[in-house]
Amino acid sequence: MVIFVGAGPGAEDLITVRGQKYLQQADQIIYAGSLVNPALLDMKKETAIVKNSAYMTLEEVIQAICEEEEKGGLTVRLHTGDPCLYGAIREQMDELDARGISYEVCPGVSSFSGAAAALQAEYTLPSISQSVVITRMAGRTPVPERESIRAFAAHGATMVIFLSAGMLPKLQEELLLGGYTEDTPAALVYKATWPEEKVCNCTVGTLAKTGADHQISKTALIVVGNVLGESYERSLLYHPEFETEYRRKKGNV
Ligand code: SAH
Repeated sequence: MVIFVGAGPGAEDLITVRGQKYLQQADQIIYAGSLVNPALLDMKKETAIVKNSAYMTLEEVIQAICEEEEKGGLTVRLHTGDPCLYGAIREQMDELDARGISYEVCPGVSSFSGAAAALQAEYTLPSISQSVVITRMAGRTPVPERESIRAFAAHGATMVIFLSAGMLPKLQEELLLGGYTEDTPAALVYKATWPEEKVCNCTVGTLAKTGADHQISKTALIVVGNVLGESYERSLLYHPEFETEYRRKKGNV
């Protein structure tokens, strides 16, 4: 049996209770060493085998899983944040399907949630933006042209940009070409929820300079949009004039 577990964004107490139980039971843990907090491994069984997938290919990961399967053991494949985003789990699941090995996915707290917490921000504000675009700049992994930063920027929605902190000048240019103004609020969140977390508020026009000034070029998210600004409308849901299944109108305030 294999469980893909989301390790959370960094802080070791941001793994789910279920994920923690699986880690405690695992006979083998294959963790994404570049971003998973190694302190999470402290909860493992003494006998558990630990492998860092940063040094392994897909084939080697599958091989290690198969060897554990032969012993009837439990492998936890520990991915950073939530495995559904940039986790490369689909290719692993397909290999396991082909071998008849069963697996489950245990979700985790993604770094985009960790970044919102660090920023004390709400990504969806009435009258400002009701959508969050999770995307990345094209790097060695290409991004389809219709999903370019420029194309998404044209919507003016909240954007959370992964895997792009090393390309801030180009990212800034694309955001501006897409239609964000120079003064649109933006932020760089480095290592959200880790002890060394850094939050740098800036604007789209100062994104690249802010990254350079704070020497941020990896393990960061870029958040863009007017939800980081001052104005918005209060929610209807909690408005006294608004009736719901649970609450009658309460009149004017
Ligand atoms: N599955 C992960 C994302 C993996 S891709 C998740 O759900 O968060 C790796 C990228 O995620 C990094 O390059 C960085 O952009 C972002 N990232 C991961 N952890 C982060 C953290 N604690 N703070 C800021 N960005 C983080």
